Amino acid sequence: MSELERLKLLSSQMHLEPSEGDECPQMSDRQEDSVYTSKAVLPNGQRISLLKTLLTSVCERDCYYCPFRQGRDFRRATFKPDEFAKVFMYMHKANMVDGIFLSSGVINGGVFTQDQILATAEILRRKYNYQGYLHLKVMPGVEKAQVEQAMLLADRISVNLEAPNIDRLRKLAPHKEFTQELLKPLHWANQIRQAQSPHKAWKGTWPSTVTQFVVGGADESDLELLSTTEKLHRQMGLARAYFSRFNPISDTPLENKAPTPLIRQNRLYQASFLIRDYGFNLEEMPFVDEGNLPLEVDPKLAWARTNLVGQPIELNSAPRHMLLRIPGIGPKGVETIINARRELKLRSLSQLTKLGVIARKAAPYILLDGVHPVHQLALF
Ligand code: SF4
Repeated sequence: MSELERLKLLSSQMHLEPSEGDECPQMSDRQEDSVYTSKAVLPNGQRISLLKTLLTSVCERDCYYCPFRQGRDFRRATFKPDEFAKVFMYMHKANMVDGIFLSSGVINGGVFTQDQILATAEILRRKYNYQGYLHLKVMPGVEKAQVEQAMLLADRISVNLEAPNIDRLRKLAPHKEFTQELLKPLHWANQIRQAQSPHKAWKGTWPSTVTQFVVGGADESDLELLSTTEKLHRQMGLARAYFSRFNPISDTPLENKAPTPLIRQNRLYQASFLIRDYGFNLEEMPFVDEGNLPLEVDPKLAWARTNLVGQPIELNSAPRHMLLRIPGIGPKGVETIINARRELKLRSLSQLTKLGVIARKAAPYILLDGVHPVHQLALF
C-alpha cells in the first residue's frame, strides 16, 4: 500500500475522536479521495488545518465501541515513525496541514506503542525542526517517563478515560484498567506540571492535558460524567473534557445499541463549561431524573428559570460572578459590560446588543437601572 493510501485509511476514522475545535466539535467535510483533515481552533484562538491520524490501526485491545478493536475485519495500515514523519513533513511543507494530532492502536503493549509515538514526535521536532502544533495521545499503561517525554515535545497531550469510573469502563472496555492505566498518567501529568520547571519543554511551557468520554456507551448518567470532569479540572489540572456521543459500529459487541443523541453531547459541553469557566458547582446543574441534564433547554437557562425569576440581576452594579450567571452573557460579554458601565448607565436592550450580549435571552433575568426591560415572552 502506498504511503498516501495508508494515510487515507488511518485518518479516515479519526472524526470519531474530537480534539481541538469549536465548543461542540463537528465532523468536517471529507472527500473520499483525500486525506482526512479537520479545521481546528487552538486554545489561543488560532485556526489551523489539523491532520488527525493513527500511527497504526492494528490494535490488540478489544474495546467494545471501537472500530479498531482486534479481530474486526477491515483494512488496516501501519507507519513506522520515520516514514510517518517524512509524509507529514511533505504535507506540511506543501501547506496542506498546519498541525497534527497523533494517536495509535495498541501493539505490543502501551509502553511499546508510546515509544513509537514518541519516536515520531522526536523525529519531527529534532530532525525536521517541526515548529508547528503537535498533540500526542498517551496510551493506556504507559510509564511516567513517557508521559514526561510527551510533555516535553507536545503542545497538548490527551489521556482518554472513555468512561467516568471503573464500573462504567468495564462495560465499555473490559480490558482497560481505569485507575492504573488511565487515571495514573493523568495524575502524573499534573505532578510533572506542578513539580518541575517547564524550561526544557517545547516553547518553555507545559502542554495542556485533555481527556475524552464516550457518552452513552455504558449507560452512565450526565452526573457521573460531570462529577468526574469536575474532579479532573480541580485535582488534575485538566484543561478540557471532550464528550463524544456513542455511535454503534458494525461488527462490535455494541453494534445493536442505540446511538446517543447529539443534543446530549452538546448539553454536556455546555454544563462542563459552566463548571469550568462560569463558577457554577456541580450541585447547581439542573439534573432531572436519574442524574441527566434536560435535553430541551440549555443548563444555564434551566438554572436561571429556577433561580433568577423574581430575583433579576441589576446589570449596572452586579459583581462579575453574578453577571456570568445570566443567560446570553458569556465571559467576554461580562468584561464588556463591566468596562462599559464605568463610562455610562446601561438602560436599554439595544445598548446590550451593541456590547455583544444576546439581549433577548438576558432580558427576563435583568434590571437596567432599576427597570425590568420590556421584552417579548417566549412562546414555548
Ligand atoms: S485501545 Fe484504543 S484503538 Fe485499541 S480498541 Fe481500545 S479504543 Fe480502540
